[in-house]
Parts: sequence; structure tokens; C-alpha cells
Amino acid sequence: MDRAWIKMDRRSHEYEVGVDMFLDFVSRHASDPNQIRCPCLDCGNVKPGTIRTIKDHLFCIGIINTYDVWYYHGEDVPSSSSTNVKSSNYKEDHFRDNTVEMVQAAHELVIQKSLSSYLLMLRNQSTLVV
Ligand SMILES: [Zn+2]
Repeated sequence: MDRAWIKMDRRSHEYEVGVDMFLDFVSRHASDPNQIRCPCLDCGNVKPGTIRTIKDHLFCIGIINTYDVWYYHGEDVPSSSSTNVKSSNYKEDHFRDNTVEMVQAAHELVIQKSLSSYLLMLRNQSTLVV
């Protein structure tokens, strides 16, 4: 399903069609149609609302423009079918790995430094004793 509309102008025809598509999806998957998480920028998929209020918010405020897999609204997160989601996950994982490595490297450097200064201190002490 094409979700490009979530990044489009709220006054565009594509956006309008997209919102209708979203609300149709939501109304088919919602367990309680009066307690649907609103994916607008203000509510952030936290505050619940009805189809009506969500529609208002999506036109007045706008949908979160990264919300292209509707997992808060009953959609399964695709595992291998969507390359789009996969590559963005990969990027995040990759970034996280790099950060961990950087932190670990910095940590080791600190340990090495403090260890060498500790050894130096020990050596100084021992020369004092001897
Ligand atoms: Zn809202």
C-alpha cells in the first residue's frame, strides 16, 4: 500500500484520499471505535479519539509523517516484505552498534589510562619504600 501521502501537503488530493484510506483501515481493525489512538502530531498515537476527531486532527494538525506502518492500529510490522522498513531498521541498528563500539572504546581508553597511572603510582610508592 502506498503511504507516500503522509508526507504530502494536507490540502492535496492524495492526502485526503490517504486519510480516508487510513480511517477505513482503522475502522476495520479497531476494537473500540471511540478509543482509537490518534496519529496526529499533537496526540502522537497516545491520546484516543473517535474516527471523527481523528479525521479533524489529520486535516487540521497533520499525521506523524514517519507513521507509515500502522502498528498502533492493528497493522503487522512487515518482516521481509517491505524493503523500506528493513533498510530504516538496518540504519538504526548500524548506528546503535557504532555508538556502542565508540562508548566501549572510550571506556577501555579510560581504564587503560587509569590503570597505567595506577601502576605508575604503585611504582613510585615501591621506590619510596625501597
Ligand atoms: Zn490528534
